[in-house]
Amino acid sequence: MDCLLDINIVADICARRSGFHEKSFAAFDRACQVGRAWLYTGAVQTLVSVLHQEFLLDQPELSRKDASELARAVLKKFTRKTHWLAALAEDGEAYNSDDPEDEQLVRAVARLGADAKLITRDKRLLESCGQAVSPEDFLALDLPEPKIEFIDLKSQQDVIRPKLETGIHKVLHHGRYILGPEMVELEERLADYTGARHALTVASGTDALLIAMMALGVGPGDEVITVPYTWISTAEMIALLGARPVFVDIDEKTWNMDPSLLEAAITERTKAIMPVGIYGQTADMTAINEIAARNGNLPVIEDAAQCFGATHHGEKSCALSTIGSTSFFPSKPLGGYGDGGAVFTDDDALAEAMRQIRVHGQAKPHHHPILGINGRFDSIQAAVVMAKLDIFDDEIEKRQFVAARYAERLSEGAGNVTPPFVAEHNTSVYAQYTILSDRRDNLREAFAQAGIPAVAYYAVPLHLQPIFADLGHRPGDFPVTERVAAHGLSLPMNPYLTEEQTEQVCRVARSV
Ligand SMILES: *Cc1c(COP(=O)(O)O)cnc(C)c1O
Repeated sequence: MDCLLDINIVADICARRSGFHEKSFAAFDRACQVGRAWLYTGAVQTLVSVLHQEFLLDQPELSRKDASELARAVLKKFTRKTHWLAALAEDGEAYNSDDPEDEQLVRAVARLGADAKLITRDKRLLESCGQAVSPEDFLALDLPEPKIEFIDLKSQQDVIRPKLETGIHKVLHHGRYILGPEMVELEERLADYTGARHALTVASGTDALLIAMMALGVGPGDEVITVPYTWISTAEMIALLGARPVFVDIDEKTWNMDPSLLEAAITERTKAIMPVGIYGQTADMTAINEIAARNGNLPVIEDAAQCFGATHHGEKSCALSTIGSTSFFPSKPLGGYGDGGAVFTDDDALAEAMRQIRVHGQAKPHHHPILGINGRFDSIQAAVVMAKLDIFDDEIEKRQFVAARYAERLSEGAGNVTPPFVAEHNTSVYAQYTILSDRRDNLREAFAQAGIPAVAYYAVPLHLQPIFADLGHRPGDFPVTERVAAHGLSLPMNPYLTEEQTEQVCRVARSV
């Protein structure tokens, strides 16, 4: 629930207006409990001057300067619990109304969505605006308590909103929407962050895999070795290029490619090895790289769509092999507000090939020496990802903290649950917090009853997907994958889960 506060409500609270303070404060407090309390940015000037006058009236001994300072100090404290709602160009049209201030609020609250409320004591607004409600009536509403979010992009947005909005608006004004300055800056920052020599942004995590394999020359007749326990894209892009996905099973503990099974899968047709960093930690890239090196220097593509930011022996994912590939899909650890991805490499020639493939195989304008795709990333998404990159390390720490809390609580009596295992020399960014349980379906049912989101990812592993039927696999071919697919359940995981919320999740897990 989003609530926009009219200035009269803020003044009631901040200036402790007698007769109004209590109700207005109670409504504000309730608004914070059930969702977000917003202030309209276009009302800042009025807000400050109304408070200033209230303080002068109330305490005539104050100098104008002291009243101003008091207003500022009170607002500073009050706005710690509120969110600034942007004034946009359409609000300018409010000049053409009998009451421009009211009209601006009406437009602003409408942007928050049809369910949003405008809390006000203004009689005209209460009569004319369908979303307006008095503090008394607001308190009488039967409002749902906020739910536990699986991936909490709204709380994240609260943290980055000023930077996010400014970043997007800058793109609107400079107009270089594709391959613009934000993309260049983001690529520099991504290279810096991972330690890879080159970082190239692309249109999606799926395109990242495609572009990586095109640059390596994967094509018909080739084999690319990967795992069956992953999102469809991994094997899909191999098949799209006419090559054959060759699956090897996953490790029992980490659920990533089992290096002890890798060598047996290599043939003279093997063109690349593509391990995945499932749920937030990298595969055993050291072992995989070693095997690749002693088998004719096979290239290794890390599908790091879920483990960007994770480390392996202290080095960052995406800088661990020939090519790293990630996704900025909104729900990934580092996501945008749309599709996007990136490829990483230390190899100058591969970087140049991928750069060309990203733009239709173009080496210079009107010259196309190789086959490519339209795989470009856009400036607005780059601005979004940059705003999130600023807080990314902090978010990873918070995810790890939530994971530690889960592990601790689940060990206290949820005997049916195996928490995730992070390998020695690895850190996880916990793209998901996935547990195994013999009673997975009962657990899922119990979570559904409690209104807690939980997802069984990859319940049908890739070797059993109809699209890969021609590979001739049967149930039982990859026993570890099938066991994890049958017992895995991902619990809510995001940096903004409170202690109370994680406890609530664990209580349900323990009850099964
Ligand atoms: C999400 C994901 C992808 C694909 O990324 P998109 O940006 O959605 O195309 C590829 N591989 C894995 C393991 C993923 O989780």
